[in-house]
Amino acid sequence: MKKEMKKKAGFTLVEIMIVVAIIGLLAAIGIPSFQKARANSRVKACMNNLRMIESGAEQDLMLNNKSATTLSAAVDFIKGGTPECGAGGTYSLAADATTGEYIANCDTHGTIASEGSTVN
Ligand SMILES: [Zn+2]
Repeated sequence: MKKEMKKKAGFTLVEIMIVVAIIGLLAAIGIPSFQKARANSRVKACMNNLRMIESGAEQDLMLNNKSATTLSAAVDFIKGGTPECGAGGTYSLAADATTGEYIANCDTHGTIASEGSTVN
């Protein structure tokens, strides 16, 4: 009689295994989508940097009445200096051969026009 009243404290092995299996399942679902979201946000941040560089190039051409500009002149118009690509890409700025419009390029992510084509 006294033996039945006594309750065991703690969890059984099966209960702990079920909890571990649920945590593993959630991690298996969550980690890939988290990594994908991280990569996507890096691309979006890079595209925003390219927009700022192109905007800086246009401002340099207009304000200084120039016909040509450089990357270093364009980034002078960006608060905080030269932006950095989150994936370690290097930025370049070149005039389009047909339109003459300045297009910024990231050697990792491409140009704004190619956004999406380099995302996997
Ligand atoms: Zn980039």
